[in-house]
Amino acid sequence: MLAVYACDPAQSRGRRFAQTPAPTRTEFQRDRDRIVHSSAFRRLVYKTQVFLNHEGDLFRTRLTHSLEVAQLGRSIARSLALNEDLVEAIALAHDLGHTPFGHAGQDALNECMAVFGGFEHNLQSLRVVDRLEERYPQFDGLNLSFETREGILKHCSRAHAEQLERGEPGGVGQRFLAQTQPSLEAQLCNLADEIAYNAHDIDDGVRSGLITLEQLADIALFEDFRRQVVAGYPHLQGQTQDRRLLYETIRRMLSAQVYDVIAATSAALERAGPRSVYEVRQLPPLLQFGEDMRVKSQALKQFLLHQLYRHPRVLDTTGRAKQMVRFLFDVYLARPHEMQSRFLARSDAARMAQDPDRAAARVVADYIAGMTDRFAGREFDRLSKLQLLPVQPGGFI
Ligand code: MG
Repeated sequence: MLAVYACDPAQSRGRRFAQTPAPTRTEFQRDRDRIVHSSAFRRLVYKTQVFLNHEGDLFRTRLTHSLEVAQLGRSIARSLALNEDLVEAIALAHDLGHTPFGHAGQDALNECMAVFGGFEHNLQSLRVVDRLEERYPQFDGLNLSFETREGILKHCSRAHAEQLERGEPGGVGQRFLAQTQPSLEAQLCNLADEIAYNAHDIDDGVRSGLITLEQLADIALFEDFRRQVVAGYPHLQGQTQDRRLLYETIRRMLSAQVYDVIAATSAALERAGPRSVYEVRQLPPLLQFGEDMRVKSQALKQFLLHQLYRHPRVLDTTGRAKQMVRFLFDVYLARPHEMQSRFLARSDAARMAQDPDRAAARVVADYIAGMTDRFAGREFDRLSKLQLLPVQPGGFI
């Protein structure tokens, strides 16, 4: 039932540590199951998407966001005869490397790590599944198949790609050096991610009161469907308390984008005619919106960036989140014994590394990146009470 250009689990490029195949599951089903059972996956429930986790119970978290990406991705994958299991595995894992406090946390940690090689959440997601999960006696990480790891590493700087390439020649870093594409399943997860957050951030933004339906009147992708809904159900208009207008508009918006991707991608596939995933990787991106939808989606993205993600109230909470991450980083770097024992052990081991400062900072970054919002908050409270004295920039006694 799979198209010739889909990823076939029987043709997988394999795992870094060879394992006997499972009796009843394909390699990609097995990857998905490993991800769902990982500790990093469970932490997603207490990690911020846009609104801080404690601000309200109904806002998206990284977990519910990832589930929505998986739902949209699978739905499109089935229509295009792509591998649904692989799409699901990538979607559920794509945000595993996110820090607490959303993008604010990631920016702060990247600043802290600037002199130690930086911090990228996509690369961190790969690090989680490759190294940081400790669940198997034989190896670190989850030992996922190449195709899942390829999809998880959505972006990567050239410097990091070179580093990956040295450790794994011809592996997941290579495409960033060769400037080729990943599988269609991986391309699909990127677009499904965008469709998901564009839609749910409208919902959460309106729920929070930070954006209004009036502001959205300028955004074609939303407004065209809102008018359609009002025309069909005039009683919904003007009832600001009734959320059905919003939900029905978002539902139609989502469907339209899904059908658009299926149509535009089918046409692109027909034109390019790839006969295997290997050919897909050599071609330009094929998983796409039609031109009209691409422009509309871009306009909505810009709207959300300016009206929601940079809303003073959001920026205010992100400012505080950044302070907390910077403080935690400085404290753990100077006082590694404040970290949990397995990270302290890794920090001790870092002293033997070629570049001990860089290695020790990476342990701290891994520790902080893995935290949920509330654990980071508790640690901040605990450590602030110790009344540590800054001795130098980046150090505490
Ligand atoms: Mg995402």
